[in-house]
Amino acid sequence: MELWIQPCAPCADLYGQPSAIEPHETLALTGAGAVKDARVEQHYTCTRCGAAFARILKGEARKQVWMLLNAGQH
Ligand SMILES: [Zn+2]
Repeated sequence: MELWIQPCAPCADLYGQPSAIEPHETLALTGAGAVKDARVEQHYTCTRCGAAFARILKGEARKQVWMLLNAGQH
């Protein structure tokens, strides 16, 4: 199981951006049934680089961002 991925350019750009930004075309919505409330959080996986994102849609404004879930820490 690969836990560390090298994000492609669109994913690297999206990381940390406000969740109001629309996902790029290689991001596929995943795990809708696994998330408690899709209005609060959506999960996407990039079909190009395998990056897994959480798109936080509710809560504090500063936390409503695109979070990259499976990248290495720098
Ligand atoms: Zn990607």
